[in-house]
Amino acid sequence: MKIDAIILREVHLPLMRPFESSLGVTRERRILLAEIQSEGLTGWGECTAGERPVFSEESTDSAWAVITNELGPMLAAASPTHGGECPRIFRQVRGNHMAKAALENAIWDLEAQREGVPLSRLIGGVRSTISGGVTLEIQSSISELLAIIDSELAAGYRCIKLKCKPGWDVEVFEKVRSRWPAITLCCDANSTYRLRDADHLVSLDAFDLLMIEQPLWHDDFYYHSMLQKRLETPICLDESIRNRRDALAAIEMESCRMINIKLGRVGGFSEAIAVHNAAQERGIPVWCGGMQESGVGQAHNLALATLENFTLPGDISASARYWAEEIVEPEASVSPLGEIAILETAGRGCEVRTELVERLTARKETIRAVELVS
Ligand code: MG
Repeated sequence: MKIDAIILREVHLPLMRPFESSLGVTRERRILLAEIQSEGLTGWGECTAGERPVFSEESTDSAWAVITNELGPMLAAASPTHGGECPRIFRQVRGNHMAKAALENAIWDLEAQREGVPLSRLIGGVRSTISGGVTLEIQSSISELLAIIDSELAAGYRCIKLKCKPGWDVEVFEKVRSRWPAITLCCDANSTYRLRDADHLVSLDAFDLLMIEQPLWHDDFYYHSMLQKRLETPICLDESIRNRRDALAAIEMESCRMINIKLGRVGGFSEAIAVHNAAQERGIPVWCGGMQESGVGQAHNLALATLENFTLPGDISASARYWAEEIVEPEASVSPLGEIAILETAGRGCEVRTELVERLTARKETIRAVELVS
């Protein structure tokens, strides 16, 4: 399959609601989109790196450099037919999973279009709908959080994930559980606890949480295995799991009882499917984590979440929660029952609004194989 051009764009997407952190107010996200043109078809991929290297080592700027200098030229020269060929093409470059996933996922999209099947079916998905879920950031007060949960439940979401940290945990869960004793509730600590907090974390068992995600160090299995022995609440690993081998190590060491699979974190569909299968074979359920993607990345997440072992509600929500204007149509929406339908159209299942993308583009670079040859 000849690749005619890889167009990398940085788009600035205005957020529906600006959010405030210690770094100031964020009004828009800087997202990289990869558009791959091949024999009359166009595949799209999204890089899920954040503006700063705080979730992983990657950032919008590092991914831009790695794609334009390394991965883009490698892919254009190799012109793969199948998305599954990408890990081999990129193997010289270590890490940089989110940069790799942006390109690999666009190739999977192209492959599905060429085969005339939905991306979800190409990868072996078995679901026609996905249960939506939301993640709620730490708020300035518990009453503010309760009001937000109220509106998310009214919108149909069935699973509420709360970001937590020392000082924003027990009291929060007490208030939430006393108001909604039966909702599916879980939390994500993003590595804010240490093993010395084990007694405190054991006290969270009282709140019937579906899981606690990544309580300890972002790159750890060993201390998580010590903690999991003491907790009734299942630990779910996110940041620690970068590939299938990590998943196998974590399962073997009993560091977790669930795994969050993110396409960008593991480097694209090939490795995500491998992690999914490894977990499934060992009886470990998985769920699909979001990284505040645009409609492009979200379409890939939806396809991934159709695989059989995604038995836990995912982190996939309606576009209208995040973006002032969605760059794809139709945009993902959640039914009153909290479900998102998977479209039966070939490829990723949505059209990219190219005029809007062009208007939001802050920088753009085109990579062609011929440039390598000349
Ligand atoms: Mg997480």
